[in-house]
Amino acid sequence: MTKILVISDVHANLTALEAVLANAGKVDEVWCLGDVVGYGPDPNECITLLRSQPNLAWMMGNHDYAAAGDLALEAFNADARKSLLWQREALTPENMEFLRTRPTQAVTHGEVTMAHGSPRDPIWEYVLNTLVARINLGFFDTPWCFVGHSHFQVVFQYDRQEDDFTIQVPNPGDMYELKERAILNPGSTGQPRDRDPRAAYAIFLPEERAWTPHRVEYDIKAVQKRILAAGLPPRHAERLVGGW
Ligand code: ZN
Repeated sequence: MTKILVISDVHANLTALEAVLANAGKVDEVWCLGDVVGYGPDPNECITLLRSQPNLAWMMGNHDYAAAGDLALEAFNADARKSLLWQREALTPENMEFLRTRPTQAVTHGEVTMAHGSPRDPIWEYVLNTLVARINLGFFDTPWCFVGHSHFQVVFQYDRQEDDFTIQVPNPGDMYELKERAILNPGSTGQPRDRDPRAAYAIFLPEERAWTPHRVEYDIKAVQKRILAAGLPPRHAERLVGGW
């Protein structure tokens, strides 16, 4: 039975990433939906640790794109911009090159389409409600689509008979049996915004059509110290405690 770890939005938070990897245990594959850098103090360490994971799939996120490329930073708020400029300085040339070569289009693996934002707009669009989920149904052919970007752990399931999408905020640890179409967000590992500060991830068992969201506590104080020591915006340290 294949066990796949699905993560997104690590945002240079090594302590959260380590906690997730330890909590997930042995997995066969790791699928990362993007935004490994931005906001946090450990961009190189997160990239290196992730690259050592088995059967890695890795999508380009908007922060990765901005940190690694020459993308103008106007699309980001002032604090995010400061952090991105810091990351551009901090990244090693090798990691910069690695980030630069992540896929910017949706990628299909078996029965799953992966995108950072959405299949319609893989880098920028947020899937936050059933209307946007429905629009995106027409932009992927596989039964399921995994997205990140919003930093919300959420399950959208489509019922063909009812022609209706449902949105669920999942209960961590509960297993969700996937129906014919679904859009799933594992939540953010390094900067959750759903008021639950614990690091988020999901385990996907393709043979069983099973999706299990998880949350795990990590040493937030240690990350806050590194954020402040690096001279990154204090707001990025504060928000980790409240999960916003
Ligand atoms: Zn993000």
